Formats: sequence, structure tokens, C-alpha cells
Amino acid sequence: MNIYQHILLAIDFSEDIQFLIERANKMAVQNDAKLSIVHVLDNIPMPDTSYGTIIALDDETDNVLLEQEKNKFSQIGTQLNVPENQRWLIWGSAKEEICALAEQENVDLIMVGSHGRHGLALLFGSTANNVLHHAPCDVLAVRLKNE
Ligand code: AMP
Repeated sequence: MNIYQHILLAIDFSEDIQFLIERANKMAVQNDAKLSIVHVLDNIPMPDTSYGTIIALDDETDNVLLEQEKNKFSQIGTQLNVPENQRWLIWGSAKEEICALAEQENVDLIMVGSHGRHGLALLFGSTANNVLHHAPCDVLAVRLKNE
């Protein structure tokens, strides 16, 4: 019997993310599991204006960074053959939204990357660490090697 039925892969766009993507793909195939992907937009685009800074919250904005993130996310979804309704692009805080989505979608395994931080970064806590402590299900942290 397969252990996991629904895997949620949490994606950021760090350079080493491809390794995590391949691991998640294999895990989904081996378990014959449904695979969903999530990227949390946690950096709100803030265009500068002559009268200060406005926070652009609607996704009609032509913010170049936002469009790039959407494109990269879409490419990963296509690469993994993830249907559109299992691709989640969400505004908010990564650690909270990933766990809330896992609960909502009856996910039984969340996969995140781990950079094996030390020192101050360890003290402040990584996304992987936060997800691990608040997830409603199993969490697999895949060690990513920073070149
Ligand atoms: P971090 O500790 O923040 O460098 O991230 C570790 C892992 O958390 C990444 O490899 C992703 O799996 C996940 N992650 C980080 N940021 C996000 C995000 N904004 N949206 C979805 N997953 C994320």
C-alpha cells in the first residue's frame, strides 16, 4: 500500500529548487500520489511614486517581478504535469499559507527544501522549520546543496 496519497510541493525560486522538484516528482510517482504545488507570494510589489510608495495588491499589476514568478511557477507546473486546479499561487506568509493549504486540501505529505542554515538564520527559523512545526501532516525536508 502506498503511504502518501496527496503530496504538496512548496516552491520558491532559489537556484537549487530543481533538485527538490525532481525528488517530489519521484515521490509522487512511487506513491502513485496526487501532486499539488504551491508558491506563496510573500513579497508584495511596491512601485515607487513621486508621492511615496503604494502597495499594489491586485494581480492586474504589470509588475515585472510578479509576472516572472507567475511564469516560472507555470513552467514548473507544466514540467510536473500538475493540473491547473492543483497549482496554488497565494498571497501571504509562506509558513502559514503552506500549512493552511495542506489542511484544506487533505494533503498527507508536504515537501520543502532545506538549506541547512547555521547561526543567525537558524535562530530566526527557516520556512522549512516553521512548516515542520505547524504542519497538519508529515513533512519531508529535502536537503538542498548551496553551490
Ligand atoms: P527557506 O528556508 O525560506 O529558504 O525555504 C526553504 C523551503 O521552503 C524552500 O525550498 C521551499 O520548499 C519552501 N519555501 C520557501 N519560500 C517559499 C514560498 N514563498 N512559497 C512556497 N514555498 C516556499
